Amino acid sequence: MKSIPLKSDVVVIGGGPSGSTAANALAQAGYDVVLLEKAKHPREVVGESILPFVWKYTDLLGATKALQKMRFMEKSGGTTFWNNQLTQMTFRDFDFQTPALHVERNIFDDILLRTAEQKGARIFEEVIVKDLQLNGYDNQDVFYFDTLNGKSGKISCRYLVDASGQAALVAKKLGFREYDKDLRFMSIWGYFKESDYVALGGDVLPFSQRYETPPTTGIYQIGEWGWCWQIVQNDQVSVGLVLSPEQFSEFKLQDGNLEERFLSACRKVPLLSDMLKYDTLIPGSVRAIRDFAYYPRELAGKGWFLTGDAAAFVDPINSAGVLGGFYTGYMAAMAIDDSLKNNKNRDYAVERFSELLRGRMAVYRLSALPVGVNSYQEMYPYALSCLKQMSDLEKELIYTQMILINRTENLDIIYQLDPDFRRLTSKKYTLLDELHFPASSPVV
Ligand SMILES: Cc1cc2nc3c(=O)[nH]c(=O)nc-3n(C[C@H](O)[C@H](O)[C@H](O)COP(=O)(O)OP(=O)(O)OC[C@H]3O[C@@H](n4cnc5c(N)ncnc54)[C@H](O)[C@@H]3O)c2cc1C
Repeated sequence: MKSIPLKSDVVVIGGGPSGSTAANALAQAGYDVVLLEKAKHPREVVGESILPFVWKYTDLLGATKALQKMRFMEKSGGTTFWNNQLTQMTFRDFDFQTPALHVERNIFDDILLRTAEQKGARIFEEVIVKDLQLNGYDNQDVFYFDTLNGKSGKISCRYLVDASGQAALVAKKLGFREYDKDLRFMSIWGYFKESDYVALGGDVLPFSQRYETPPTTGIYQIGEWGWCWQIVQNDQVSVGLVLSPEQFSEFKLQDGNLEERFLSACRKVPLLSDMLKYDTLIPGSVRAIRDFAYYPRELAGKGWFLTGDAAAFVDPINSAGVLGGFYTGYMAAMAIDDSLKNNKNRDYAVERFSELLRGRMAVYRLSALPVGVNSYQEMYPYALSCLKQMSDLEKELIYTQMILINRTENLDIIYQLDPDFRRLTSKKYTLLDELHFPASSPVV
């Protein structure tokens, strides 16, 4: 059995998309990388709607072919029912050469982890990181418990990447993890064996047609603040509620166990409720998470970098989580590579990484934030700087997503900050009058 070494150049905590990306890229650059992962993969995790931009990272990581082989469900676009308006966007309009997906995350993440291993990262699963000591550049200690042999141990490294997701080990240890004041949502989700779904043009189709006519991701507003997703996968349908604290309090007051309350809440979601097959809810599949959004107070320091959800997270409404994981994992690898090649660059690498991430988080945050609230005014200049550097394609997609969920006003302050910054525009969406349910089904 392979054993965890006493030292390595880099330790990565967590084998989700961001950890696998950082480990893979650093191993490819020739560094000795050890990745410690609490779970045995494939492991369960929420977040199945994937944007087409991810392929540029999977190409760099050498994971594209293995992912393509899995034939994940391709999605054609998004459908929202927001402020009583049905709107659709399709990825076809953006000329993407690669598809957007609805994936089974356990399989998706497992492929990324195995690819990192093939590229030379040393992966140790079922090892729980218990504590850390960050002692300045080139001197980090990671304390772990290896559940396979029941032993505790320590590994020292020059650089640490915290990719531990919502566990956010470094941010908690250093005391700067801050829940996002404006996004204190809760989510409850579950899996149905099947459901009807919305295709392009507003046709509501049975699950059996998902390969001939691909699904869109369904996003349905709940009250003023909440929303619900519907993600058709190969063998099941993921449905999740995202609720404000007030809505969650109401949810808790309902009768029944978690599954019953989840079903009863789904029955109240306009449109979705007409597409679900309630008796196909997979028993035991309902899960809940609270306070998953937090603000990026610090993102890197002398010898450590935060990636993915361990850095920050917003509302998942625009499917930016996994993409953000790839981006931040890759940026951390580049920053560490630069620092290890040239000591003189290391302070700059920390600064630059923090600035780039803060910018990207600020844009994701503005694209998801309910209009009229923003407790973090300092985010606007970062968002502006990030938008200035973003490709036109990415800006256009984000803006279109904002149109679909009525968030475009969040950009007004950006335009005021820099009157020369060209206003974002998009015509790549369609307003629909109604959904076309099969005859005898409900119609809006
Ligand atoms: C309700 C909800 C819906 C979402 N929907 C979407 C979506 O549709 N599309 C999308 O792109 N994103 C979505 N996301 C976000 C997305 O799932 C995350 O952004 C993504 O998983 C982040 O990847 P990561 O690698 O940072 O962390 P993770 O994927 O969470 O991986 C972290 C890893 O760290 C390991 N770990 C934790 N603690 C320790 C420890 N002490 N020691 C060792 N290992 C440890 C965990 O076992 C885990 O494998 C959603 C999130 C939520 C909350």
